[in-house]
Amino acid sequence: MGMTMTQKILAAHAGKVTVQPGELIEAHLDLVLGNDVTTPPAIRIFEEAGLETVFDPNKVVLVPDHFTPNKDIQSAEHCAKMRRFAKSHDLDHYYEQGEPGMGVEHVILPENGLVAPGDAIIGADSHTCTYGALGAFATGVGSTDLAYAMATGKTWFRVPDAIRVYLTGQLAEGVTGKDVVLHLIGQIGVDGALYQSLEFAGPGTEVLSMAERLTICNMAIEAGAKNGIFPVDAKTVDYLKQYAPQRYAEQNYTIHQADEDAVYRQTITIDLAQLRQTVAFPHLPENTRETGTFEAIPIDQVVIGSCTNGRLEDMRLAARWLKGRTVAKGVRLIILPGSQRVYRQALEEGLLAVFADANAVISAPTCGPCLGGHMGILAAGERCVATTNRNFVGRMGHPKSEVYLAGIPVACASAVLGRVAGTDELPD
Ligand code: SF4
Repeated sequence: MGMTMTQKILAAHAGKVTVQPGELIEAHLDLVLGNDVTTPPAIRIFEEAGLETVFDPNKVVLVPDHFTPNKDIQSAEHCAKMRRFAKSHDLDHYYEQGEPGMGVEHVILPENGLVAPGDAIIGADSHTCTYGALGAFATGVGSTDLAYAMATGKTWFRVPDAIRVYLTGQLAEGVTGKDVVLHLIGQIGVDGALYQSLEFAGPGTEVLSMAERLTICNMAIEAGAKNGIFPVDAKTVDYLKQYAPQRYAEQNYTIHQADEDAVYRQTITIDLAQLRQTVAFPHLPENTRETGTFEAIPIDQVVIGSCTNGRLEDMRLAARWLKGRTVAKGVRLIILPGSQRVYRQALEEGLLAVFADANAVISAPTCGPCLGGHMGILAAGERCVATTNRNFVGRMGHPKSEVYLAGIPVACASAVLGRVAGTDELPD
């Protein structure tokens, strides 16, 4: 039986020729990630278990990004604990504010050249699946797995089945990768890919930018998937050349292709040309509707950023739709570049000036409002359009607030119009 991309990566990291769906394997890891929510408990477990050293100081990556810059004493203590651990174990990749390369974890790992095709990566954060955009296997784990993986460089997996998502056509103007993934989740539901790989294939993959692929893989978990993964093509290699020049120069990566006879539970075909701007209504990412198909819904806030849509391409797109426009009266627009590198580039390109002219608030790179942490908490009854990835009850604040998930163009149009809206409703 042939193997999928994911199965091939797992087989290679388990030292096996083949693996079968359902098989339990122990795999060597190329990278282990933790953040300021999940690492402090992992450090406690690590120390209580008497583990003394990390398996490789160059392969354990710690990113305090959720409640940073520290929002209160507790978050300051968590970060202090991470900082001490990183220092005492000589970790090469600790990205706190003030460190070069800092930002939101799933924005900075690819940006800092830490992800390459064929890698096997775990992170104690469910959106670790983002890195599948580069043809890597990446998935989220809990703090206990993080603790032991930091020490051993290994973990166990049940080899997943796969769903093939076959993309054709080209996206229309104003429709983005976010609309692709919202459409997919709307079609299969939040448990539609439970413990399976979402493997993207077809000519439509090639027209998507790397930023769009990162957005799509980021939300694979919102369909319950173990991971999302794109085939490696010229765009992936160009990305690697730009962001991971050393690995590119050394050819230190492996391109895995699915076998012709790989077995998929199902194939879902999506013609990108048929997709329209899409919004996930409260309180699940599967509650999708196309813009223009619902009555006016007034909003109080718009958040642009996060590990889903906080990359430079997203900032450029936001500036394109906000240029010469201002935020509607009574609406707060908060823009969070996903990393210091994105922030700096946005500054140099004049994008931050466009945002300021539109009366947006521009934040330091942080998860902040995405998880209802800080920097934009919603009150009871408030509604927010967000380019983030989750809209569960209370995700961004009060349990009686509402989050509408959308791509950058819809977020901008909504901020300008003061209601959930597509860009075709914007006046010229
Ligand atoms: Fe999680 Fe949101 Fe931070 Fe992404 S931006 S890592 S989804 S809290």
